[in-house]
Amino acid sequence: MNGLCATVVDYPSEGIVFKDLTPVFADGAALKEVVDAIVEKFAGTFDAVAGVEARGFLLAAAAAYATGTGVITIRKAGKLPREVYAQNYSLEYGEATLELHQDDVPAGTRVLILDDVLATGGTLGAAAALLERTGAHVAGIGVVLEIDALPGRANLAAHNVVSLLHV
Ligand code: AMP
Repeated sequence: MNGLCATVVDYPSEGIVFKDLTPVFADGAALKEVVDAIVEKFAGTFDAVAGVEARGFLLAAAAAYATGTGVITIRKAGKLPREVYAQNYSLEYGEATLELHQDDVPAGTRVLILDDVLATGGTLGAAAALLERTGAHVAGIGVVLEIDALPGRANLAAHNVVSLLHV
């Protein structure tokens, strides 16, 4: 699985070393390996799986299907049609806003949040904050790859963070 991760220098802007996991998602055995590994690490601790748009959706849908739980979609601004909570955050390369329907998650739901890459932790921190605003409990955060040189783990210190690969 490690060998399938592509590295693209200066994308999407100069100075960023982009870790492209689309070859992992495109490989049936590798996709199964990452989803099974994440599910195993959090077995029995969650009632639903939240994915962060867009690559997090792939992992969240697969993990939810594998465990008979539902998927919660945390989306970029302006994509959800009903009342939302909105959270602004800083990215390694810019600023952004994530949104979550106010009534998608019953209070007390234990939610596992998934995304492909943990960089600064801004995205996953915003996702966790949105879920907590609904009254949900963040059961944990899972990513395929963590960039150790960036402060993502420190910025998510309040949460149980599991990364399958480190660079
Ligand atoms: P961050 O909020 O800085 O932790 O960034 C995480 C989000 O941005 C994830 O959804 C990643 O897909 C994407 N991302 C940020 N930096 C990178 C990178 N160097 N390589 C690949 N994806 C990245």
